[in-house]
Amino acid sequence: MSGVKTHSWIDDLNVYVSGSSKVVGAQKAVKLSANESALGPSPMAIAAYKAAAENLHRYPDPVYHDLREAIGEKFNLDAKRIVCGVGSDEILKLACRAYLKPGDEAIYVAHSFSMYPIAIKSVGAVAIEVCDVDYRADVDNIIAAITDKTRIIFIANPNNPTGTYLPATEIERLWQNIPDTILLILDAAYAEFVDADDYEAGIELASKANNVLMTRTFSKLYGLAALRLGWGYACKKIAHTLDKIRDPFNVPSSAQVAGVAALKDLDFEQKAISHNSQWREWLSNELSALGLRIIPSVTNFILIKFENKNKTAADANEFLLKNGYILRYYNEQGLEDCLRLTVGTADENNELIGLLKEFLEK
Ligand SMILES: *Cc1c(COP(=O)(O)O)cnc(C)c1O
Repeated sequence: MSGVKTHSWIDDLNVYVSGSSKVVGAQKAVKLSANESALGPSPMAIAAYKAAAENLHRYPDPVYHDLREAIGEKFNLDAKRIVCGVGSDEILKLACRAYLKPGDEAIYVAHSFSMYPIAIKSVGAVAIEVCDVDYRADVDNIIAAITDKTRIIFIANPNNPTGTYLPATEIERLWQNIPDTILLILDAAYAEFVDADDYEAGIELASKANNVLMTRTFSKLYGLAALRLGWGYACKKIAHTLDKIRDPFNVPSSAQVAGVAALKDLDFEQKAISHNSQWREWLSNELSALGLRIIPSVTNFILIKFENKNKTAADANEFLLKNGYILRYYNEQGLEDCLRLTVGTADENNELIGLLKEFLEK
């Protein structure tokens, strides 16, 4: 045993569990467990990434000027208020480092992104979980959980793993009801997939508020999960604070140029969005027709509930794994009766439905 003493709150941390990518014994593995892009990466991003290999001996641009400008232009934002990170995960962790100390409280919603409690506890703060309602964040429950120790509220909007969202009016109502000493983090990792008219990713609120941080990622729609690229948008003061504590060269050059290219690849973006909308609807209909309960989704994944005691999620998971299909199975978080399915290619989606049919008829 090492005599080096770990902080008690670090000792207590759980390691983040990601969607698995391997199947023991199966011929092939179709990974529909991590909400990755069904169409792969943007081709323009791949080309930019390859070209960046010639300059591997150079340090990256520490202020990622071109990337910030490209994001600012695309979303009509003030580039100076954008912070980029090693995935949006880094932005979430930077916010915890900047605004939480041991004993402070941060609120997150049950059945949401499991990184939040890890990020909160990693700085010694207390993670306060509040109940959701019908797998959706509930503004009144969040407000009721606020104490004078609350410093951050995390909302994934849309939410992972449930696929639900809160309309702009509900987010606005939450913001109106919290003191401006609390940072409201709107994690919009799946914003690009949402087609609901009453949804707003957080650009409007983060633009006007001095206590709102919106986070976004290149890992999902743009298919650049391997590059670890995300960004946040907040008022100048918060953006500057996060900038001060990040590593000076946190975003590699390859990720910077690929990100810029991905934002300009409108053809890929359009294809990815319409592929997702079409197949999300198809899968939702097929799953319902099989008698499975689905949580209506606005994202690139669907949470499926196995309510029949003789056909459990655990058994379905095992059957699918044997046939080379990996979904996200939750043996924790109170979602033991669910599997989360990421929208795949046409062939994968068809085969998956065929397998589930076989499993249910067995
Ligand atoms: C995938 C995901 C992220 C993004 O992660 P990156 O670190 O940018 O890859 C953030 N929040 C939620 C809710 C996610 O599902």
